[in-house]
Amino acid sequence: MRRTVALAASLIVYAVITSFPASAMAGSMRMVALDVGEGQAVLFAKDGHGLLVDAGPPHRAAELVRDIKDIGVNHLDCLILTHLHPDHTGGLFRILEEWPGMRIIENGHRPPANRMPDLSRWAGQVLEKHQNVDVVGAGDRVFWQGAQIDFIWPKKIRDHNLNRNSLVLILSHAGERVLIMGDVGTGVERVLLRQEVFERELEIKALVAGHHGSKNSSSSDFLQRISPQHAIICIDRNNIRGYPNQNTVNRLERYSEHVHRSWNGDVMISVGSGHNQKETTTSDPVHGNRQRKQGMKQ
Ligand SMILES: [Zn+2]
Repeated sequence: MRRTVALAASLIVYAVITSFPASAMAGSMRMVALDVGEGQAVLFAKDGHGLLVDAGPPHRAAELVRDIKDIGVNHLDCLILTHLHPDHTGGLFRILEEWPGMRIIENGHRPPANRMPDLSRWAGQVLEKHQNVDVVGAGDRVFWQGAQIDFIWPKKIRDHNLNRNSLVLILSHAGERVLIMGDVGTGVERVLLRQEVFERELEIKALVAGHHGSKNSSSSDFLQRISPQHAIICIDRNNIRGYPNQNTVNRLERYSEHVHRSWNGDVMISVGSGHNQKETTTSDPVHGNRQRKQGMKQ
């Protein structure tokens, strides 16, 4: 049964590959960790096309769509949902209104209805109906606009915990890599460290830190192995859960050259532009609308 599922998954991924032919040109790709408040939404933009990893919370959805367009993305080709919690999936409904045929990649995790927030259950219902959904897990690979996206977790869904079964992915473009951890914690990090992909020093340009910088994420052992140039914490300031944990921030600062927080405004980083080009990392907003928003927050 499991083999059948795995085979089906690999066939589906092949369909993804045919839908997103790799660009012959390794042009400039921007990664933008968007300021969506209490949640995560990370956009990759290239030549007017976009790939979004997570969709933020529901009440920021209209703003998210506007921001994606303001960044210059008219065609949102694909949405990767790391898992179905509302702070990652809330924008799904509005995004599908705007780009109804878009491809969605997810982990297929569906705990029993009484073990999920309502919004997660409704997101699951939308995904069941959507014609363009691919279910992936560790070992699957897709291509988009010249970038390669390797999913490294989960190998198998084992329990009802949405966070622990988040998709973890590495996007590689023109020799640079971005690691997005979803909401997994140190337990998953330990498993990943034992895997082949982490046996050597991975040069990670940007890490989107796991679980919003919570206490039980971004362990020293893990950070030491990946030593990211940039670490990004996606969360709002003064959130109800007290994220990020200060000890976690200290660890991120110890092992990363730069630590950014999405609540200071969009974090923009070029991916694969070559080491000689100046970083475009900034806490400055990319357009006037976000400038006003930042001003309001101060
Ligand atoms: Zn989350």
